[in-house]
Amino acid sequence: MTTLLVKNIHTLVTMDATRREIRSGAIFVRDNVIEQVGTSQEISQTADEVLDLQGRYIVLPGLVNTHHHFCQTLTRVIPKSQNCDLFNWLINLYPIWANLTAEAIYISAQMAAAELILSGCTTASDHLYIYPNDCTLDDEIRGIQDIGIRFHASRGSMSVGESLGGLPPDSLVEKEPDILKDSQRLIEQYHDNSRHAMLRITLAPCSPFSVSQDLMRESAAMARSYQGVRLHTHLAENKADVTYSLENFGMIPGDYAESVGWLGEDVWHAHCVQLSDESILKFGKTGTGVAHCPCSNMRLASGIAPLRKMLDNKVPVGLGVDGSASNDAGNLLQEARTAFLLARVGSCDASIMTAREILEVATIGGAKVLGRDDIGYLAPGMSADFIAINIDRPQFAGAHHDLVAALIFCQVNSVDYSFINGKKVVDRGRLTTVELETLVEKTNRIAHQLVA
Ligand code: ZN
Repeated sequence: MTTLLVKNIHTLVTMDATRREIRSGAIFVRDNVIEQVGTSQEISQTADEVLDLQGRYIVLPGLVNTHHHFCQTLTRVIPKSQNCDLFNWLINLYPIWANLTAEAIYISAQMAAAELILSGCTTASDHLYIYPNDCTLDDEIRGIQDIGIRFHASRGSMSVGESLGGLPPDSLVEKEPDILKDSQRLIEQYHDNSRHAMLRITLAPCSPFSVSQDLMRESAAMARSYQGVRLHTHLAENKADVTYSLENFGMIPGDYAESVGWLGEDVWHAHCVQLSDESILKFGKTGTGVAHCPCSNMRLASGIAPLRKMLDNKVPVGLGVDGSASNDAGNLLQEARTAFLLARVGSCDASIMTAREILEVATIGGAKVLGRDDIGYLAPGMSADFIAINIDRPQFAGAHHDLVAALIFCQVNSVDYSFINGKKVVDRGRLTTVELETLVEKTNRIAHQLVA
């Protein structure tokens, strides 16, 4: 057993039930679990490791990323796809992704996770739906286990190619029995439903325009036959996506999801930019979650997701940076700021959302969307996932009137410390688990090969 004491925290943002913000705060951790949260005066015992933050850091729960495609880190700003909407963007990228290899999956997962961790993320979900050459989800899992972020790995899939009216080329889709067989293998090999689990498996047929309704139903049935295996997909991303649903299924996206059994507390959908008011009500009533990805939605000109309306109707919402080919960053603190600003400009209402509300979406909201009751806020019994940010950095200069709001208002975009499952993964702004310079070099080498 090892213990950790983090003390003299300028402001400890707990995000607990009463949203306590503790001045001169402290956290005591035993192994991977928080044992005490309070003031430095209240928590005075010593520990195996003591981190004295000398009143110069703000500490908050690690942020949760609910939607990503790690492998897209290799295909950012591809010239042909820079100025396209969703479908054309995909059509230009599929042939490049067809060259992915196991090594590319491993390295891009680490690169994406590194970027997320440095921007405050301690739990990430990824959606890998393309398996050309020797690629498997195992490659991504290995990469993530080596870097040490809490991980929800989604076994994505595509089964309806161009010849059947889908969007992806036939060469990139898999046979449905193979998808289901591999899904079952991955659940049985990796899924950990225990409290504080570092790895869980999700089943995630890609989108209405790349899988069949059968596969949606079969995947849901399989996921629900295991404890804690969740369901994830893309839905109502833009107007063309809605048109596709109407033309191919005779239903709007929300009704399509309902018709294949994809509403419920164990389901979350990415984007939902064009979700109808009625569907929002259904999502709220059934506890169906949404991954809100504002940068990607802006980049692909998909529209502005009705974030306020979703929250007001009790839809669980978390943030997602989405794949790095449509963001093209993977910075979760930035994503929170963008979500906050976009909600305001989309409604022409500066009071529509506060900085603290978007921090809730980024922490508690993300935890809810991923079905976790052990992360998202700081309290005894919770997983030891938290981040610390120095308040002397330039972005906070002149902003000490409200440092918590300044996290969002003032474009703070990196952390100085990150603890994940009790382990120090960022130390004074540097990753401790991988050599970042080497990782960047490898990423660039593979990205070049992939496109060449
Ligand atoms: Zn996506």
